[in-house]
Amino acid sequence: MRNITNELREIAEDLLESKKVDVVLGYAKGEQPYQSVPFAAKKKEDVENLIFDIFSYSSLSKYLLDDMYRGKKVALVLKGCDYRGLKIMLDESRVDRDDLYLIGVECRGVLEKSKLKKKIDATLFETTLDLKEDKLAISSSKENVEVPYEDVLSPYCLACEFSTPHKEEVDIILGEPGKMTNKELTTDECFAEIGQIEKMDEEQRFEYWKKQLNRCKRCYSCRNACPVCTCRVCLFDRENPSYLDSDTSQLAQHQFYHVIRAFHISDRCVGCGQCSRVCPENIPLHLLNQKLIKELNKFYGSYLPGVDEQPAPLSFAKADDPDPFEKEEK
Ligand code: SF4
Ligand code: SF4
Ligand code: SF4
Repeated sequence: MRNITNELREIAEDLLESKKVDVVLGYAKGEQPYQSVPFAAKKKEDVENLIFDIFSYSSLSKYLLDDMYRGKKVALVLKGCDYRGLKIMLDESRVDRDDLYLIGVECRGVLEKSKLKKKIDATLFETTLDLKEDKLAISSSKENVEVPYEDVLSPYCLACEFSTPHKEEVDIILGEPGKMTNKELTTDECFAEIGQIEKMDEEQRFEYWKKQLNRCKRCYSCRNACPVCTCRVCLFDRENPSYLDSDTSQLAQHQFYHVIRAFHISDRCVGCGQCSRVCPENIPLHLLNQKLIKELNKFYGSYLPGVDEQPAPLSFAKADDPDPFEKEEK
């Protein structure tokens, strides 16, 4: 397997030294075990901090909206889902392709830490991981085991249909195609939890979501991490909005936030999984997004935001659009 980190450092050094770009936005090792954090390399000496690994979760394109990058030429590291988020920003003229140098990476999926924790006796601090082809080697003083990589992959990655940006859409591709899983899984298999919730009756479903959403602190991390939530002023950040107050103890307020956000991103969600990953309360937000994607696909046919060129299904209306709420004629 080619080493993406080494290739990335070489190309980053070349880009910075030749002044083709002002900054390379990628990832560096974080302070916690198995944590890769966004990192901006601005000079040759920064380049040795750049890495790319199975913990490079964040989508970096949203940083382009920050004033500090205005007028700068930026190189950006992109997995498939990151490219999809950026493509939506490009299509909406939020950023200019001429200001960017796009470094696509062959993505083999990111690791779901909660799944890994169930496989090991030691803590993450005591464990060393090594991804070899389709197996993850886990070593610690307590164990040395190999598990199929698909067993610890994010469910989003198991369902991913676009793991690497197309060659013609980026300036360079690093890495080589690798297998994420040996199994052909349907989206329903990847998100079996949705099926469990669909089987509940209305009251049970309400109780389930009440329990989940009552834990929400409205910290807005899920929105901030989302590559397709890119409004400069989000409606939840407006000054003293009449539709929302700062009381974080009211379920109705949480429901309002989550239902509005889920609808706003329903035909834009690129399936990166960051919203669920960053939630300090482990609220399964992916279930809301996936349910909406599933329903939209049922009504309007399959649509991959940031990949398919046709307009997003909710961005226009046709006379013969299905109307699930239509009242039957008496
Ligand atoms: S969703 Fe696809 S592109 Fe994104 S991290 Fe997972 S496998 Fe990679
Ligand atoms: S990240 Fe979690 S706690 Fe924070 S607003 Fe989102 S759902 Fe609520
Ligand atoms: S809603 Fe969640 S999974 Fe979808 S694009 Fe945003 S962060 Fe990614």
